[in-house]
Amino acid sequence: MFIDTHMHEMTYSKDSFLKLDEIVHIAKEKGLGAVCITDHDSMEFKEKAEVYTKKTGFPVFVGIEYYSLQGDIVAFGIEDYPRERISAQEFIDLVKAQGGVCFAAHPFRNNNRGLEENLRMVKGLDGLEVLNGSTSPEACRKAAQYAKELGLFTMGSSDCHVPEKVGVCATWFPEEIRTIDGFLAAFKKGEMRPAYYAKGSYHIFEE
Ligand SMILES: [Zn+2]
Repeated sequence: MFIDTHMHEMTYSKDSFLKLDEIVHIAKEKGLGAVCITDHDSMEFKEKAEVYTKKTGFPVFVGIEYYSLQGDIVAFGIEDYPRERISAQEFIDLVKAQGGVCFAAHPFRNNNRGLEENLRMVKGLDGLEVLNGSTSPEACRKAAQYAKELGLFTMGSSDCHVPEKVGVCATWFPEEIRTIDGFLAAFKKGEMRPAYYAKGSYHIFEE
């Protein structure tokens, strides 16, 4: 099953132009089985997502894209997050202490918000976003090299803020996932693969 693991909804991501209805509409058209809303330094969307999933049956998992002092990290499975900026390592430790999972978002994107060489310094990251819909192919290739070298799980996601980007990249999981607990369990197994959408369907990215 394909899941877009990093997306921005406009209610709490002020730089997004996407409403959840539109995200899910496009996601279903492309063949995604679930979506993840990971707003910038916010998890406020959680309740709205739960109501939506109950009403429609379409799984919407809420995580966070947290801007640590060294760069953006996407996390799931945490109850709360720091309101001030803390170091990447402190944030990863906090995620682990709460039983959550996390991956480095667009580590080499040229916006100074990736972990870059800090990837070699931090301990405890689960995965690395090697396909990001808003990042250059060179930066994605470099991320894939680092993932291999550091032994991290690899993810793909759109990081969408506009309709054209919804689902352009995604992550393939071997199992069907319906709940956040199922998502966390699948994530921890690490059998996922990055994927991209082209010519009407998803393709697994071969590193
Ligand atoms: Zn993002």
